[in-house]
Amino acid sequence: MSPQSSPTSPKVYGWCPGALRPMMSGDGLVVRIRSPLGRLSQTQASAIADMSRIYGNGLIDLSARANLQLRGISPDGHGAVIAGLKELGLLDQDAAAESRRNILLAPFWRAGDASHVIASRLESALRAAEDLALPGKFGFVVDAGASPLLQGCPADIRIERSGSDILLVADGAQVGQPVTVETAADKAIELARWFLQQGGAINGRGRMQALLARRAAPAAHSSSRGTSAPQPPLGQTALGQLVGLEFGQITAETFATLAEIAPLRLTPWRMLLVEGARDIAPLPGVILDATDPRLQVRVCTGAPGCLQALSSTRELARDLAPHVPEGQVLHVSGCAKGCAHPGPAPLVLTATACDTFDLIHHGKASDLPLRQTLSAGALRAAPETLTEGS
Ligand code: SF4
Repeated sequence: MSPQSSPTSPKVYGWCPGALRPMMSGDGLVVRIRSPLGRLSQTQASAIADMSRIYGNGLIDLSARANLQLRGISPDGHGAVIAGLKELGLLDQDAAAESRRNILLAPFWRAGDASHVIASRLESALRAAEDLALPGKFGFVVDAGASPLLQGCPADIRIERSGSDILLVADGAQVGQPVTVETAADKAIELARWFLQQGGAINGRGRMQALLARRAAPAAHSSSRGTSAPQPPLGQTALGQLVGLEFGQITAETFATLAEIAPLRLTPWRMLLVEGARDIAPLPGVILDATDPRLQVRVCTGAPGCLQALSSTRELARDLAPHVPEGQVLHVSGCAKGCAHPGPAPLVLTATACDTFDLIHHGKASDLPLRQTLSAGALRAAPETLTEGS
């Protein structure tokens, strides 16, 4: 299907919020926290919950790049949040370093293993590379565990497992360059510089995949990539319990309760890994059952939290979740930008006005619809509409 073009086309900012460079949204400032190695100690997590309660609206998002977002931070409270994050060791030296240090680490690392060492070195190298003017959304993945888990997650440069090798991969290529634990971080920085030298960034924007559509990856990239392992199911793992967050959001109260149990690792799957935990008791908005239908739904902030939203989204998503057929995914989007699920989904509802949605099958939020102007009420009354015409 071809993209939809309309006067309500969403604005593309080309950068992501940070802590030092927050983004104004419909419910206040969005302050994004990039915790080193995607981990929060109990002290850090508990303090973040307090900041959300005191200076924000008590809601915390977990992004698809495993970052936390404090929502509804008042402009007057932002300074106190920054001071708090600095005290917790969660603040970069400046906004440029915060933007560069865009690393998604596979969450099942152990201290001293390949993923842990490479990600630690890459964090240091990116902090130090002050001349590296990468586009705002340019990101890295470190995925060197037993088998790659994050091939489906957006990134520009990947360091991933392939059998007994570790490969450096330019996103969009089917081959990579063998690297070692010792060389991986430096080689990743070299590849980022190659991206810039090749004209990958134009006016501060650009992605590796778009560059590779125009020219080949460096010659040293000739080893075949390994195959991604499936996303781990929610539940018990060797490192603790994976718990789901309803639509990727959690209240400060519940986050504080989880922080009392154990340190937390952030994942790109709208799940938290609670280190060493098992049999966590039910908590509001926390999904413990791998068959919960809410896990089959992707939904963005919608109105009123997002300034670009044409409708609220979460209530409808919650009501329709039980009607999503097994094995399918429903994406409910507040506008055609499709933030919650940039790729295609089997079922998509894109808001076009308040409580009014277009229905798309097997496409993105911006694709041409199969049905138009369906009211939220009509969808609730006849949820089978979702799959009619498949
Ligand atoms: S997709 Fe949702 S969160 Fe993204 S801009 Fe549109 S309404 Fe806002």
